[in-house]
Amino acid sequence: MSFVFVRVALDHPLPTLFDYRCGVELAPAPGMLVEVPFGKRQVVGLIVEVATHSDVAPDRLRTVERLCHACPALSEAWLGLVAFAADYYQRGRGEVALPALPQALRDASRWERLLAPAEGYRLLDAGAAALPAALPPRAHALRRLAEALAQTTLLPVAQARTLHPKASAVLMEWQARGWVALEAVDLCATSIAGRALASASASVAPALPTLTAEQQDAVDAIRSAHDFAPFLLHGVTGSGKTEVYLRALAALLDAQPAAQALVLVPEINLTPQFEAAFRARFAAFEAQAIVTLHSGLAEGERARNWLAAHLGQARIVLGTRLAVLASLPALALIVVDEEHDPAYKQQEGLRYSARDLAVWRAKQRGIPVVLGSATPSLESWWLADQGRYKRLALTRRAVADAVLPSVKLVDLEEERRRGRGSVEGLSGPLVAALNSCLKRGEQSLVFLNRRGYAPQLACDACGWVAGCPRCSAYVVLHKPERALRCHHCGWEARIPPACPECGNVDIAPLGRGTQRIEEALASAVPGARVLRIDADSTRRKGSAQALFADVHAGEVDILVGTQMIAKGHDFQRVSLVGVLNADTALFSHDFRASERLFAQLMQVSGRAGRSGLPGEVLVQTRYPRHALYQALARHDYIGFANATLAERRDAHLPPFVYQALLRAEGRTLEAALAFLQHAAAALQALPSAERITVYDAVPLTIVKVMHVHRAQLLIESASRAALQATLRAWQPALRQQKGVLRWNLEVDPLDI
Ligand code: ADP
Ligand code: ZN
Ligand code: ZN
Repeated sequence: MSFVFVRVALDHPLPTLFDYRCGVELAPAPGMLVEVPFGKRQVVGLIVEVATHSDVAPDRLRTVERLCHACPALSEAWLGLVAFAADYYQRGRGEVALPALPQALRDASRWERLLAPAEGYRLLDAGAAALPAALPPRAHALRRLAEALAQTTLLPVAQARTLHPKASAVLMEWQARGWVALEAVDLCATSIAGRALASASASVAPALPTLTAEQQDAVDAIRSAHDFAPFLLHGVTGSGKTEVYLRALAALLDAQPAAQALVLVPEINLTPQFEAAFRARFAAFEAQAIVTLHSGLAEGERARNWLAAHLGQARIVLGTRLAVLASLPALALIVVDEEHDPAYKQQEGLRYSARDLAVWRAKQRGIPVVLGSATPSLESWWLADQGRYKRLALTRRAVADAVLPSVKLVDLEEERRRGRGSVEGLSGPLVAALNSCLKRGEQSLVFLNRRGYAPQLACDACGWVAGCPRCSAYVVLHKPERALRCHHCGWEARIPPACPECGNVDIAPLGRGTQRIEEALASAVPGARVLRIDADSTRRKGSAQALFADVHAGEVDILVGTQMIAKGHDFQRVSLVGVLNADTALFSHDFRASERLFAQLMQVSGRAGRSGLPGEVLVQTRYPRHALYQALARHDYIGFANATLAERRDAHLPPFVYQALLRAEGRTLEAALAFLQHAAAALQALPSAERITVYDAVPLTIVKVMHVHRAQLLIESASRAALQATLRAWQPALRQQKGVLRWNLEVDPLDI
């Protein structure tokens, strides 16, 4: 028997590829999935290379057990994406590639069922164009056959016979004319077609809004780009960015019948709104030509959708950050909506930025990528300043008569000085505005970025504050659940009847979360139907969607919630937005806190007055003269961005330097710090270290979580290349070090 060698990527922290022997009759090729023995287990891996030689001693080489022939090999471009991401984020290729695959593909015992082979006919474009005219008027059976072909990717021969008695002969004739092709595999349980018969596509065309001049310019710029072209679509809230995406998608998908587009949104909760818009606009597409990819899908569905993308059958893939790693062989356009959103950064495992990988993919493929936002990240804004991204601006709201809401700052100090009353943190002006909004029959939204009832439960007599026994953090009081809950580790306890330290029964909640505001609103705005949306009220799968549907249906007068309600939603009847407790972020030691706060407040403000109702935003603050609030009141993103970039430049902060963060977790803080100090010394000994700044290892703000102590080491350089080279050279030393439970390295960290 003759064999070759395959180099396989496995989901294993060792960054190397693993060599195996493989019989040539199995026809291995790069990009194919394999099942191989690894230690005592059988695991699924990905062939990266096929070679005629291996450096591994023959007696140590093991043999490939099984190849997955049913799933077409992943493309060279996809392997290139994996190699880049692994290299850039300092991980093994297998650690990138395998977690990016649907679970069902990573289990070889399920390959058969998932990828059951069949023979069937596929309708070709020539057939789709020619068939409607070629069918004789009353040939009902032939028409049924043609429709069935149009509606599935691969029409199994057996099924065709049930539609037409001479199906085999007819199909062979159509095949001879180049209208259909016989294919051997159908990878998906439900087959998928990217298009309908030409006659079907014209049937339902919804009336399209007339584009504003700015929208038209943006669409024209995107559709006339034929090479790598990164666009920063800076559009104020309600300016109709979605319509720009839709037109750009339509232009592409019409012009290139096989092309695929990837659309990323920051949150699962935004997918239904986008999916509905896509399905309405591309009504001629069969259901499965538009697929979603996110962590909320059932495993089987995720596998099918992933395969539809991989096979080129899905024309539009709509997903959250994980979709950026989907296999898209005919990728021709990428959209990243709300590109500034921190949710695009994966916070565990491979800590990638989906936005950055999207831009890289566009460059690799030589295609346009549209980054849309009302508040672009300062990284992207700076790239646009340098001319590396092309800016497209939508400066006005799209709906006729809709203008940006007026923003008023409610000075809490002044309210107090003048002795004006407030109800549980709701100032007089806000309560009045909420009541009059209710009288007008319009909706309002109260934004507060803190869930639970109160962030602390404290004893006035002795100073005791309820803390988590496992973390160095206070626990949050949850009133409806009658519990104290740690937001870091999930620890939970009943609310104690008295202070455990001194027996005082007068223990009281300190501070306010969404639950407490919900309660306060009930008395401050009598008769209002109040709905709370936050991570607690939407714990059950699908419940967020149901709650948002209630808001859209007008069954809610006041919506109170965390940043979940701030993002992207197109609420039609919201005319008032109240913002509570935003001040804390002004004085954070994280240099990105103000950028994040500004974006959040712009986003949440942007929910008001979208359909033409005059909108109003009330921000309660102790610092009404703070530059951030002043810029917010002027809707002045550009002023804020330019000022903040100037500060960052002076302070040598990103985007003017590049950073990486090494985090260590130990049984003691000393162990974590010692690990980082040794790592720092090892880095400084590297030849390339002279262009790198290494800061002192420091404990994290919440130093202990789940009894584990955490510390971090910040590294930065003015040169991305120097930083990358150093991180790479540093890896062996890091891997040799011991003494901590875990460590990880994050490139381009967002939270510092
Ligand atoms: P953004 O994402 O920029 O905040 P959306 O895409 O949600 O804004 O659009 C805001 C509203 O404007 C939506 O209700 C949308 O249907 C509407 N809209 C978009 N473009 C137009 C247009 N050219 N004419 C009229 N209405 C439009
Ligand atoms: Zn006490
Ligand atoms: Zn805890």
